[in-house]
Amino acid sequence: MNANIFSAFAAAAAQAGDKTFVEEAGATHSYAQLLDMSARAAAVLSEHLAGGERRVLVQVEKSVPALWLYLGALRAGIVYIPLNTAYTAAELDYFLSDAQPGLFVASSETIARLEQAGSIPAGTRTLALEADGDGPFADALGAAPPAPDVAQCAADDIAAILYTSGTTGRSKGAMLTHGNLLSNLRTLQEAWRWQADDVLVHALPIFHVHGLFVALHLAIAGGSTILFHRTFNADAVLADLPRASVLMGLPTFYVRLLKDERFTRDLAAGVRLFISGSAPLTEPVFKAFAERTGQAILERYGMTEALMITSNPYDGPRVAGTVGYPLDGVSARLAADTGAGEPGVLEITGPNVFTGYWLNPEKTAEAFTADGWFRTGDIATIADDGRVALVGRGSDLIISGGYNVYPKEIELIVDELDGVEEAAVVGVPHPDFGEAVIAVVVARTGQTVDGDAIVAALREKIAAFKTPKRVIVVDQLPRNAMGKVEKAALRRRYAALFD
Ligand code: ATP
Ligand code: MG
Repeated sequence: MNANIFSAFAAAAAQAGDKTFVEEAGATHSYAQLLDMSARAAAVLSEHLAGGERRVLVQVEKSVPALWLYLGALRAGIVYIPLNTAYTAAELDYFLSDAQPGLFVASSETIARLEQAGSIPAGTRTLALEADGDGPFADALGAAPPAPDVAQCAADDIAAILYTSGTTGRSKGAMLTHGNLLSNLRTLQEAWRWQADDVLVHALPIFHVHGLFVALHLAIAGGSTILFHRTFNADAVLADLPRASVLMGLPTFYVRLLKDERFTRDLAAGVRLFISGSAPLTEPVFKAFAERTGQAILERYGMTEALMITSNPYDGPRVAGTVGYPLDGVSARLAADTGAGEPGVLEITGPNVFTGYWLNPEKTAEAFTADGWFRTGDIATIADDGRVALVGRGSDLIISGGYNVYPKEIELIVDELDGVEEAAVVGVPHPDFGEAVIAVVVARTGQTVDGDAIVAALREKIAAFKTPKRVIVVDQLPRNAMGKVEKAALRRRYAALFD
């Protein structure tokens, strides 16, 4: 048996045949084309990697040829390493020297800039794929003889290295195996009742777990059609929703849809599943969405190192502020040192958990417990029935005057106050308390909020040690490309507040 996940895709694609795999702005690409183009891409990649390390580092804009590139790498058994398109040349220098790829694919402009800076390692060749999908890679696809084989892989062979988002520190390369990818795919097909006639709106980036693995893999393995959006554009997504059955999004997608009056119950009626992940979905957004559409967003939790970990149920209540139950085959527990009912660091085990960080045995060792469970770094509670709720990241925990303060608890309360769009609660150095709790708040469009009034309102609701010592009103919170609030940036920005 071939454990290469592409075998599963090939089987589904062969069955789907002329059915549309991807539709973008009216242009369609069939499953038969997926088989042909991935075989060509496999040939192009193998040729460029001849004699080199069988790893391809990729920083390209989302395009259909970028899909062929990914699928070709899987097909040829080449380790695929995608990078966030927002990374600058200086950041790429780190990823090139860390990944030491045999081949680097990026726009010709990026390649030229890195060559000039001397950032391309000696053993790394380059191949250009432009933002619009054209260029030497696309040309080579047209000329290549398709390599029809699917490379033989074992379940524990590395399929991809994905760099973590770098929210808490320098990005680490998580090595994910074909077995990790395939087991998570099968679990999600079941958990979310994937059907061949599903039509997916794909507006996520394809350099990360959510867009690359969860969305793309489910669609391909189901032989389903993807309505392809290079970015999330509310007009374009609203236009496609009446034809769609599934939307996978970041919480910000839902915030933006709700701001648009054209997003109505009728428009959403044909969509059977709205999925949210990568960052916390706030309770007000969950509620507003339910009021508008009559549907409950399904929130799930995952990470680069472990793909999808928990999910709210398909049947049964989807509870705002929780990420549901461990997926089939995944076990979750809290680190031993926490008291019953108290939040603790979430540890997990299952076939979805990665094999380690690329060239980083130290971080790998730190990430696993003595009995082999993965330390997620997220703080959670687990209810009696197993339902998981995330409280925040371990690194965001605030210790003020000796008391543990979980930012999320306070954020949920601030989010509910009049005029508040969203809030981020962080700890900053304080001469008396060690750390002081502060809240950084964004007002709803057209409304104003007053920091002191928020502090006063919170005093009535929560213990003094949890009440922010200062509330700062800003136009927007700093976010990374995955829509995550960069709390480390906020901590730096306000580090001297109590000097
Ligand atoms: P780094 O590990 O480099 O600091 P990162 O943890 O943000 O970056 P990712 O692997 O992209 O990198 O993100 C995983 C994290 O995203 C999880 O550990 C969790 O903190 C957060 N996350 C994912 N889904 C959810 C969710 N539904 N609710 C809240 N947080 C979530
Ligand atoms: Mg992380």
